[in-house]
Formats: sequence, C-alpha cells, structure tokens
Amino acid sequence: MQEYSLQTHSYQDTETFGQNFAKLIEPGDVILLNGDLGVGKTTFTRGLARGLGIKKNVKSPTFTLIREYQDGKMPLYHMDAYRLENNMDEDLGFDEYFHGNGVTVVEWPQFIRDEVPNDHISVNIKRQNEDDRDVTIKLYGDKYEKRDFGAIV
Ligand code: ADP
Ligand code: MG
Repeated sequence: MQEYSLQTHSYQDTETFGQNFAKLIEPGDVILLNGDLGVGKTTFTRGLARGLGIKKNVKSPTFTLIREYQDGKMPLYHMDAYRLENNMDEDLGFDEYFHGNGVTVVEWPQFIRDEVPNDHISVNIKRQNEDDRDVTIKLYGDKYEKRDFGAIV
C-alpha cells in the first residue's frame, strides 16, 4: 500500500490540494474521506470539483446523502453517509455510483463500510488546531498504486 502525507494550513490550502488531486483522478475512482466534523472533507471536495472543471457550487450532501455534478470533465458523485450511522445493511443503491463513469467521494465512509469497494483511495484528515491539518493519502489497489501522488503532495 502506498502512502503519502502533507499538511495544510488554511481552507484554501485544502481546496488547492483537492484541485491538484483532480489531475490524478480517472472515471470509476472512489475516494473515502475520513476525519471528524469540520476537518475539511467538504472543503477538499470543493477543490476537487474545481479541478474537474465543475462550476456549480459544491454543497454538503448531509441531508440529501448524495449530490451529483455533471458539468465537469467527468461526473462527481459526492456522498455523505453521516446519517446512515444506524443503517441495517440495507441495499442503498450505491453500487451504481461506485462502478459508474464518474468519481465518487464519500464523507463518513465508516457508516457504509460494507458497501465501499476494496480498491479505493483513502484521505485521512486530522485537525491539529484552528487552521492546521495533517493529511494522509493511502492507495488500495493496483490501479491506484501505479499513480504518482508524490507529484502533488
Ligand atoms: P467537514 O466536511 O469535514 O465537516 P468542512 O469542509 O465543511 O468540514 O469545514 C471545514 C472548516 O474548517 C471550514 O470552516 C474551513 O474554513 C475550516 N478550516 C480551517 N483550516 C482548514 C484547513 N486547513 N483545511 C480545511 N478546512 C479548514
Ligand atoms: Mg462535510
């Protein structure tokens, strides 16, 4: 498993990181965003969307579970599983997104652990203080491990 680390020192840094991340993303990719409330998961996704050429404003999908953005170079499926904490392993129909033509980004992936593909990128964000974040990227699966994330961290 490949692993990369970096720090961000402002929300703009995290957006820029997301924007650069988009350069390495291909259709069918799955990105799991781990970290507590307010660490910057949605902020990262906003940058990723910008990097994909999406002009629509990215809003948190907490109450909708999923938001789709189709106006970029590939579709972005932005999920927030927070409200599924107590889900009873029902089939939530996420597979069509995970195996679709776009990139899927999941906030709170631990709440749909059984649904997410084994091959994925995990981005862990940890708050150090008001503005500083430690970010760790882990690549799971051959198709990801071949990519040069070292070029963007
Ligand atoms: P989450 O989706 O993880 O709950 P959000 O992206 O919605 O978090 O919110 C992150 C909050 O933290 C925003 O208010 C943002 O301005 C602030 N923030 C401060 N420093 C950073 C940083 N380095 N990276 C990301 N967000 C930051
Ligand atoms: Mg969020």
